Amino acid sequence: MKRVVLLGSTGSIGTSTLKVAEDLPDRVQLVGLAAGSNVPRLIEQALRHRPQAVCIHDPAHVPALRAALPPEIRVLSGPAGLIELATLAEAEIVLIAIVGTGGLAPALAALRAGKDIAVASKEILVMAGETVMGEAARLGRRVLAVDSEHSAIFQCLDGKPPESVRALWLTASGGPFRCTPKEEFAGITVERALKHPSWVMGRKITIDSATLFNKGLEMIEARWLFGIGMDRVQVVVHPQSVVHSMVEFVDGSILAQMSTPDMCLPIQYALTYPERASNHRVHTDFAKIGSLTFESPDVERFPALALAREAGSRGGTLPAVLNAANEVAVDAFCERRLSFVGITHTVARTMEAHRNLDRPSLDEILAADQWARGTAHRLVAESR
Ligand code: NDP
Repeated sequence: MKRVVLLGSTGSIGTSTLKVAEDLPDRVQLVGLAAGSNVPRLIEQALRHRPQAVCIHDPAHVPALRAALPPEIRVLSGPAGLIELATLAEAEIVLIAIVGTGGLAPALAALRAGKDIAVASKEILVMAGETVMGEAARLGRRVLAVDSEHSAIFQCLDGKPPESVRALWLTASGGPFRCTPKEEFAGITVERALKHPSWVMGRKITIDSATLFNKGLEMIEARWLFGIGMDRVQVVVHPQSVVHSMVEFVDGSILAQMSTPDMCLPIQYALTYPERASNHRVHTDFAKIGSLTFESPDVERFPALALAREAGSRGGTLPAVLNAANEVAVDAFCERRLSFVGITHTVARTMEAHRNLDRPSLDEILAADQWARGTAHRLVAESR
């Protein structure tokens, strides 16, 4: 039985994690749940799974939760509550599925309290991958991938050292605008960008999938999770999303991990690792799929990939700057204050304006994050 704290239980990854816990009641027990603002869903989840404690971001919601939940379930709130939940004595592993960088402090706290972490929130590894992986190594804890691409790479690597790898191949669906001509990009609306061809996900990651910033963030995430230089992290577009990613070894052999797309699979693997648990949720019918196709990404229409490669290669505070500027730009696009192409422009201009700092401390990374948010906000305001 794995005792799991789930941060971001009401979101897309969170609800899939609950399904996994319900599929495997003898193997996965949810001992803590945290949400941002969805009080009714958190109550419903807590009544069904009876965790030791729940946490809600805004303390104003505590009375409603207290009134609805039995007294043995503790109700916590705010960033301090999140840390308390992530370090709960009963927990063995903390799954971080909070959108953005809010999961960074709880991730570090969980590692320091002796827990393994399972990371869906790629933003925290982009921002502070060196710090998180360094702490995990120092403390002998595991950082398990929840992202389907990184779970695939983890499964294909199967403990082989970085020297045995020629390249990591991240697959990308290509998003909703894979075939859209460049001239039409200026008119892309929020509604069109939110229609992903293969996955149903939260708003931020869906827009990131449309710009390909999601793949860019994943390149940097892979660099840290697997200790592989950016020059060996490659992207190939694979619209069927059946091959979740591949590892090319130095002898030229390539291993891929495949299935019909379902996030429950990588979540389950992270929570049951190193074992595999029987579950009939996912079935893959190759005859029905028919063909699998691959193509090179178009970096001219999707400059996010080149920006991410630059940030990941130069390192320092630049990945945090890319990530923070992107978060601000995605929010502005969703609120119709910025065009679709404006997202990439804003990130590129924020990166250009940044004076990169090598080997930054965590405080310097957090300062760069704040600086980038301020700069991106100003650029968005000026673009109107
Ligand atoms: P969603 O927007 O669907 O969910 C985000 C979750 O975070 C919600 O439960 C939300 O709560 C919660 N939350 C937000 N702020 C706080 C806070 N301050 N404290 C506690 N909880 C908070 O996002 P996704 O599930 O799609 O994505 C989550 C992360 O996983 C992202 O980093 C994404 O990149 C990554 N990821 C997602 C995949 C997917 O298939 N969706 C695939 C791979 C990675 P509430 O709703 O109550 O406000």
